[in-house]
Formats: sequence, structure tokens, C-alpha cells
Amino acid sequence: MYRIGIDIGGTNMRVGIFDDGGNLVVKEKILTNAQEGATVAIKRLKLLINEVLNSKEVDKTQKIKGIGVGSPGPLDPWKGEIQSPPNLPGWDNIPLRQNLQDKYNLPVFLHNDANAAALGEFLYAYNKEVKNLVYITVSTGIGGGIISDGKLMLGDKGSAGEVGHIIIRPDGNMCSCGNRGCLEAQASGTGIFTRTQEALKNYDRPTILKNFDLLSSKEIIEAANLGDSFAKHIIEEVQMDLALGIVNIAHAYNPQKIVFGGGVMQSGDTFIQPVIERAREMILPSMAENLDFSVTKLGGDLGLFGAAALVDYFQD
Ligand SMILES: [Zn+2]
Repeated sequence: MYRIGIDIGGTNMRVGIFDDGGNLVVKEKILTNAQEGATVAIKRLKLLINEVLNSKEVDKTQKIKGIGVGSPGPLDPWKGEIQSPPNLPGWDNIPLRQNLQDKYNLPVFLHNDANAAALGEFLYAYNKEVKNLVYITVSTGIGGGIISDGKLMLGDKGSAGEVGHIIIRPDGNMCSCGNRGCLEAQASGTGIFTRTQEALKNYDRPTILKNFDLLSSKEIIEAANLGDSFAKHIIEEVQMDLALGIVNIAHAYNPQKIVFGGGVMQSGDTFIQPVIERAREMILPSMAENLDFSVTKLGGDLGLFGAAALVDYFQD
């Protein structure tokens, strides 16, 4: 049997087909062009699904168990509606689940992308063996998903695991949510960029960052790795803030494993290792002892694995 995974992002929409062994058989992507509106984008998404289903890698005699969709939140997983995500402007109360169910006559599951990714890790990367697992994505924003005692935590509104809005510095940067000092405002890719820009205004000594026209978190981390003292100072502060967030998460959920994903993690060990070390020093020793950290092994396909995992988790 197959399951279809759909990963909707602010930039791309991806579709993948997975077999019973959790192997990705085929995948394709197209631009989301969210500004064209949900109706047009969903039409194009269905064309992409059809194209993937008709591709030569797919065994046409296999049945399809269901469709899983990971999307930026907020969304209502019970209604199957996408509700005005900041990354998908104009997508207000879009009944995506009903729409796909009507078209394909298959069970459809819609959840936020970070929760789906946590399930992808739980089911496919760790084969249900790690029953207490937290997934944290550090990208443009910061998000998370919590597996507790082998179950995905949803919360009252399906929004459990929004770890990006844990407040770690009440006097910190403004967050998109309206609060100050959220983990996301302090330590996401956007947070790193904003902090650097602010600090550069008052910095009159040399730094290689002044040579860049377009700064990204990647360049700032690279400059720190190269020994630029301005960049190093910024990145050390970011690492401390990320560590504080992780300490709070570890104390709240007592996971066996914390898995990191997202674009900022592509900067490698030099960025994340000091974060892990600082966090370990602050987590209660009884909890830190058995806590393991890793970066996702599913790479850029984690969103697809997560979407497919929704089918296996909610259908079984
Ligand atoms: Zn916030």
C-alpha cells in the first residue's frame, strides 16, 4: 500500500509517495505562489498529485491508504481547515481536507508541519522506539512537535508544541506574535538577522559582515566560524538563547531525544554543538542523563515523511 505525503510551505508545495516500508518512492514539487490565492494553488496541487501518481516509479496496482498534509499553522486538524497562516497570506479558513477527500475519495489528515515532522521522526527515523521525542525546527521561524509516551500532543486547539513562542527574555526582540523575547524572535534565522542588523548600526570597528549586501543567518554563522569577533558575539548570544529555550522544553516534556531540523541546522555542528553543551549544563541532571540530541536524518524530505506519517499514525 502507498500513502501520499503533501508538504505545503510558503515557497514550495511538495508531494511524495511512500511504500509500506516507509520508503520515498517518488517526489515532486512546485512553487506555492500563495499570493495567487488558495483556490488556484490547490488546483495546481491536485495536478501535481496526479502527475506523481502517474509517474513510472509508481506501481499502479497498489492501493492508497490515505493522504497526509503538513501545512504551516494555525490550522484546525479536526475540521481539516487551514486558518490564515502568516506564511500563506489570504488562505483564510480553507477546508483543504474536505477538498482533497472529495477529489480522491481517500482519508485525509491535515496537521501543522512541525507536528507532522515530529511524527515523521517518531515513525520513520526511530521506528516508534523513542517514545518521548521533541522535534524542534530552527528556520525562518521556530516550531516544534512533541511525542509524549508514544503519542503526538495536540492540545485543545491542535497547537501544542508551539515552542517558538516560549518567552525567554521579556526585554528581548519583538516577535511576530506581539510579545517580546520569544525564542523565535531571539534565535530563528529571522531573529539572527534582525539582531545582527540592529547591532551593526552601532558598531564602528571592522567586521566582514559589513561587506555583505544581503545578509542571511547562514553568512552570519559562517563569519562567526571564520573568527569575526562581531559575528561571534552575536552567534554566542543566539546560542545561549536557543539553549535557554531547550532547557525549558526539556523540563516541560522530559524527552529521551531532541531532534533538530530546519534551515539554520544546515550550518552544521559548529552552530548546534555549543547550544547542546550549554543546555546540558542547565537541565536537571536526572533528566539530562538519558537525553540525546541529534539533527534530523531525513534531511530536506522530512516535511514529506512527516505528512506521510500522519496517515500511518492516525489511520492505524
Ligand atoms: Zn512569539
